[in-house]
Amino acid sequence: MKLEDPSHLRPAAPTDTSVALAARLRAHTPGEVLFDVASRGRYATDASIYQVMPVGVFVPTDDADVRSAIQIARELKVPVLPRGAGTSQCGQTVGASLVIDGSKHLRNVLALDVERRTARVQPGLVLDHLNARLKSHGLWYPVDVSTSAQATLGGMAGNNSCGSRSIAYGNMVHNVLGVQMRLADGAALSAGPVASLSGRAAATAQFVRALADTHRAEIEAHWPQVMRRVAGYNLDIWHPRSERPYTDDGSVNLAHLFIGAEGTLGFVESLDLRLSPLPRAKVLGVVNFSSFHRAMDSAQHIVRLKPTAVELVDRTMIELARANPAFKPVIESALIGAPEAILLVEFSGDDRTALRLQLRQLVELIGDLGLPDTVVEMPDEAPQKALWEVRKAGLNIMMSLKGDGKPVSFIEDCAVPLQHLAEYTAALTDVFARHGTRGTWYAHASVGTLHVRPILDMRQAGATGGAARMRAIADEASALVRKFKGAYSGEHGDGLCRGEWIQWQFGPKLNDAFRAIKHHLDPEHVFCPNRIVDPPKMDNSSLFRFAPGYRTIALTPVFDWSAWNVQNDPATETITAPGSGGDTTGGLAKAVEMCNNNGHCRKFDAGTMCPSYRVTRDEQHLTRGRANTLRLALSGQLGPEALTGNAVRDALDLCVGCKGCKRDCPTGVDMARMKFEVQAQRHARFGATLKDLLIGRLPDYAHWASRLPWLFNLRNHSRLLAWASERWIGLSAQRRLPVWRNGAVAPRAARWGGVTRDELLQAHAAGAKVAVLWSDTFNEHFEPDNTMAALRVLQAAGYAVHVAQGEHGRTPCCGRTHLAVGDTARARAKAQALLDALLPFAQRGIAIVGLEPSCLLTLRDEYLVMRLDDAAQTVAAHALLFAEFVVREAHAGRFAPAWQRVQHPIRVHGHCHQKAHGLMDGVLAALRLLPEADVSLIDSSCCGMAGSFGYDAAHHDASMRMAELSLLPAVRAAHNAIVVADGTSCRHQIADGAQHDARHMARVMADHLASAVTR
Ligand SMILES: Cc1cc2nc3c(=O)[nH]c(=O)nc-3n(C[C@H](O)[C@H](O)[C@H](O)COP(=O)(O)OP(=O)(O)OC[C@H]3O[C@@H](n4cnc5c(N)ncnc54)[C@H](O)[C@@H]3O)c2cc1C
Ligand code: SF4
Ligand code: SF4
Repeated sequence: MKLEDPSHLRPAAPTDTSVALAARLRAHTPGEVLFDVASRGRYATDASIYQVMPVGVFVPTDDADVRSAIQIARELKVPVLPRGAGTSQCGQTVGASLVIDGSKHLRNVLALDVERRTARVQPGLVLDHLNARLKSHGLWYPVDVSTSAQATLGGMAGNNSCGSRSIAYGNMVHNVLGVQMRLADGAALSAGPVASLSGRAAATAQFVRALADTHRAEIEAHWPQVMRRVAGYNLDIWHPRSERPYTDDGSVNLAHLFIGAEGTLGFVESLDLRLSPLPRAKVLGVVNFSSFHRAMDSAQHIVRLKPTAVELVDRTMIELARANPAFKPVIESALIGAPEAILLVEFSGDDRTALRLQLRQLVELIGDLGLPDTVVEMPDEAPQKALWEVRKAGLNIMMSLKGDGKPVSFIEDCAVPLQHLAEYTAALTDVFARHGTRGTWYAHASVGTLHVRPILDMRQAGATGGAARMRAIADEASALVRKFKGAYSGEHGDGLCRGEWIQWQFGPKLNDAFRAIKHHLDPEHVFCPNRIVDPPKMDNSSLFRFAPGYRTIALTPVFDWSAWNVQNDPATETITAPGSGGDTTGGLAKAVEMCNNNGHCRKFDAGTMCPSYRVTRDEQHLTRGRANTLRLALSGQLGPEALTGNAVRDALDLCVGCKGCKRDCPTGVDMARMKFEVQAQRHARFGATLKDLLIGRLPDYAHWASRLPWLFNLRNHSRLLAWASERWIGLSAQRRLPVWRNGAVAPRAARWGGVTRDELLQAHAAGAKVAVLWSDTFNEHFEPDNTMAALRVLQAAGYAVHVAQGEHGRTPCCGRTHLAVGDTARARAKAQALLDALLPFAQRGIAIVGLEPSCLLTLRDEYLVMRLDDAAQTVAAHALLFAEFVVREAHAGRFAPAWQRVQHPIRVHGHCHQKAHGLMDGVLAALRLLPEADVSLIDSSCCGMAGSFGYDAAHHDASMRMAELSLLPAVRAAHNAIVVADGTSCRHQIADGAQHDARHMARVMADHLASAVTR
């Protein structure tokens, strides 16, 4: 592994100042002080194209920590940069500063007044978490940004964020009643209605008012009169220019000066929010347009009906949704013919009859506009929700474009008055075409803010490179914005990519007024210097994450990443052949670079992504943090040999390989596979540890262990041995290890009616129902009852079943344990042996039925990139989990054994890989074949055991915390239920943590065979 040209990428070495800063922070605060290169690198980017290494990162535990940090940084003349989730698109949260991350600890609701509909919150609180808390009171905070699952209220205030429903509720600035600031000199400033101010706040109000009065004519001449203007400071609060008043009674609120300040005026310690009643009902009308222009032109008329949202989805996105089997029926239910664009028009409120009337009015209006019969009415909530999901997914697919050209956000949220929207979008589309690219349009038609990102390759230099095209497109777009009297910065803020346009928008005098505000509140420029005031040029390539000259190390990856090693054509989005992208790491770097830092992995839903972040709240233990660490390592920014070094090891340490990211990440970052690659590279460099040998080679000694179970199980009965296994091997003494059982099925299947290989092939040739049952190492040696149960169920349904056998009649292993410890040579050998055993069946179209999700799905996932021969594809195409096989056969009318009635509710915990492959519906459907079965899914994420992860002494705590997030409490609450868990380690975790005997679904089905009564 060698670096081609690392010099330009190396991070600045620690300076005396940064060393002193870290030392003083450690000495004077209990907060986390993260000054190592990898931690700084993880905070060097946000969802923008920029990257700037911070001096260090500080994670305060409370306001006192924040105060101390500001004081220490000021004394050492290090700038301070406040940060929430870091989802800004314009580079607001990157800078050579001390980054203060308020998202981990500063996240409480400090006060809630339901009657007055107000809340005081800390800045690190996530919007969805606030709204979850408000729901039971019939309230919500209505600035519904798309990043609501991860965006913090502090960050939303910093950016003056705006949601899809801003036409009804306004932006952040319209929904903040007060803000408590910590200023650069350490003083507190509590801003609220001007009439109520005193002290520092009153003096600031007086100062800013004088500025506003002096510049009144300039404000009137230059301030865009649209609601969606977020650039600069809100100097117009004294002479409002927003389409929507800042306050209900026309008074002035000084808090509004700090909204949209992007961290440049001080640290927000808390915010007073104005809450809204949660609407009880919603209706949706989907208007189909045969031309994009027509759709844009109609928005101005539709808003007169007072909808709560008007959102655009263009033809490209419609087609993307149609291409996805899951979304096809949903999007098609909203279409009439083949529209060029649709507008999703939502009305919400408490009176459903009134809403239906509004929907009718929409239909009439569209008819009057000459477009009769073009509205699909959706009065019910379920189809509405499904359609909103499609709109989100369309954006995700767009962002997952492979290759170095990426959709870049820099003019993605210009706002123009609605009467000009059609002309503006048409003209900008022409601009893109002239510059050899194109953009997909979507989002907020209601307020004239359409998102669009032309595809640019920022690594290319020169006149046709990304930076030059960005400048040229921005110049032309800004001319259009000026022509239509719009706002150049209409939603996502200024940051690095729009800072220079502030003077362009407001003129030099107002720009000086902004400078005066900054000087008044932060004369030493402690907070975020060179942002809003004196910003750098947007195309300063020294600030780019992927600057021209960006290099990656030379590496031969173990896995096949060639699908990512491609380039794209920005005008047509066609992708070159796999392997042709010029990646020096064979595609691994480009796969890692798919992470665009949007922060979606910070969400807290009980889905699968990302369990380690949910228990630690550390950027390091987040998919994004991991991807950034890998990117820095692969580009030499963490020094030589970094891919196999400690920073990458530590970042991946708590990754449980759940594949939640593969499923949930909008761009499909598959960290589980990346971890396998790193493990393989580490194994090649360092060899195996004793623990690796014990875990990796388990399938090799399993046969002997299950013959001598009393010996191999001794460790579970001896405290001394448990202690020794922790001390010398690293296996947690607090864990029982899986119990070896003597009763392997594969070599003795004939005793239970299993047929031989030849008998099966003959039966198949004769047209009989047949299946191959593959008893993986875990079910074979720890829980052979599961394999037996599956055998009985299949036999009861009339199948001739062959239990797959490898060498010496033993069960063949998939090699997953070898993969987990990086021993890919052995993994490949095992894989080849398994393929050899299964191929004759797969070639004849015979299903191979597996029980353990992680093992069976390895055949359909990792095998396809392990550089195995074509047999891997053939076998993968016929490898099915037990539930999949049952459902497939039942649908075909071939699976109908006689059952007994189910007497207990069945609660199902999905294995992460089942969820990642979208297989849970099949499990539920299979169990519902049982008569009167009350089957439901437990809303759980990773069980925390995850193969060998939870047995590791160093992981025990994290493992239990993951389990306690949702799974164990749900199991404890379901004490009279049959708990189904198809994963071996999931069952173990449930037994350990909730003392409940969870079962494989095959056993539950076998227990309910009618024939089971007489057994
Ligand atoms: C895919 C995607 C979709 C998006 N959709 C929307 C959308 O619908 N609407 C929208 O408006 N934006 C959207 N954004 C932009 C972004 O998500 C929002 O602006 C969000 O509100 C930022 O929240 P955050 O917690 O990530 O803030 P950060 O990015 O961490 O910070 C934002 C700003 O606030 C400042 N800040 C943070 N905390 C403090 C504090 N305590 N004191 C002072 N200043 C502070 C920071 O310095 C920075 O300038 C989107 C971004 C992405 C990637
Ligand atoms: S890993 Fe995926 S979800 Fe997380 S920030 Fe990167 S792109 Fe977004
Ligand atoms: S595999 Fe799971 S734990 Fe690892 S990064 Fe992805 S979501 Fe997180």
